[in-house]
Amino acid sequence: MPGNPGGDDCAAEYAGMTSESIGAAREVTVSGTTLDDYTDRYAARIHGMAQSEIRALFAVASRPEVVSLAGGNPDTTALPMAELGDMFAQLLRDNGPAAMLYCPGQGDTRLREEICRVMASTGIAAASPDDVVVTVGAQQGLSLLATVFLDPGDIVLAEGPTYVGALGVFQAAQARVRHVTMDAEGLIPEALEAAIAESDTPPKFLYTVPTYQNPTGVTLTDRRRAAVLDICDRHGLLIVEDDPYGMLAFDGEPPAPLRARTDDGVFYLGTFSKTFAAGLRVGWVLAPPAVRDKLVLASESQILCPSAFTQAAVTRYLSTMPWRQQVKVFRTLYQERRDTMLACLAESMPAGMTWTRPGGGLFVWADLPHGIDSKAMLPQALAERVAYVPGTGFHADGGGTGQMRLNFSFPTSERIREGVRRLAGVIDAATRL
Ligand code: PMP
Repeated sequence: MPGNPGGDDCAAEYAGMTSESIGAAREVTVSGTTLDDYTDRYAARIHGMAQSEIRALFAVASRPEVVSLAGGNPDTTALPMAELGDMFAQLLRDNGPAAMLYCPGQGDTRLREEICRVMASTGIAAASPDDVVVTVGAQQGLSLLATVFLDPGDIVLAEGPTYVGALGVFQAAQARVRHVTMDAEGLIPEALEAAIAESDTPPKFLYTVPTYQNPTGVTLTDRRRAAVLDICDRHGLLIVEDDPYGMLAFDGEPPAPLRARTDDGVFYLGTFSKTFAAGLRVGWVLAPPAVRDKLVLASESQILCPSAFTQAAVTRYLSTMPWRQQVKVFRTLYQERRDTMLACLAESMPAGMTWTRPGGGLFVWADLPHGIDSKAMLPQALAERVAYVPGTGFHADGGGTGQMRLNFSFPTSERIREGVRRLAGVIDAATRL
């Protein structure tokens, strides 16, 4: 396409990857299920695990000619790599043999103490290191909670839309996800009451990302936090609070986590993926002792123990380096990029398009003009060398067709400007069809 070097290739590659030929030649797709030589032998749970369209998208979106607003990566180029190199070298000199060994399944004691200090700064004041389980990212924490709490057919309530990786975990556990409607103030308490009332069995838990949510960037207001806790308390509904973004605040501090308001019935998931380094894969779950013991058992059966090396690295980072200063660096960088994205959206998007204004985190969520299907439009966007994630990926019920997630943490401001400009052209053309 003139002026679009590589654009046609991108669209064709994506179309090829999402077609039935995806994967091996011996696979064939019948009514959405992929059959292969092993189909009869698989466990039932794997049949419910849908192929991630996002995987196909990321393969194309990572081509240099594409401005990817599709990712969810922090910008690790902002980390002080030379200092980190020295820190890792010193760590090996001081603790090399221990860092190269197995460690307790619950995680390193010193790291769990540091984690409690991190949580105290967000308002979770009285957490004990004994109640922390170190995990391979918050993702493993979610998976452990699913192992401990979910049987096939169980109902999980979650915001609609919600984090795609959580949907994957719930799908693998063969649970049924029921979405709770949200608006600019987060999940709607009346909708939560209604979802509980409509469930044919009592839901096992509410999964929520109350602060700078992925994918919407929306934050549950203070008033609604109290209402949600009250509802869950009245109905005996457990809460899984997933909080990877709470420290990435741009417009003043967010409301305190749900777990800061009660230590009863809230399991809290934390991670260093957004405040330090996702590649180290260190996160945690805070849970009361009985649940903690089950989580440790489940984790030991999955992975024996988290990496001693990356735990030692995070412990050293937290105790010897100015990590809070580094979080401020991330905040400032992302705030500038958020501002750029919001300004460019306002300048260039056609009438009928709306979007969220995140107070922190990594994402903007956009509603397309009426009648546009974001998944159907993606090949055109890739042909114009811009990528986003269609909204359907964040729903378990086929919702989100008219929506998309846009990331502002990874692309530079310049790339954001160019990406939004290209996207506006694609959407404008789609409104004329
Ligand atoms: N929860 C949410 C809401 C996320 O956005 C992510 C990562 N994108 C995770 C959990 C998983 O994070 P981790 O890297 O700690 O596994």
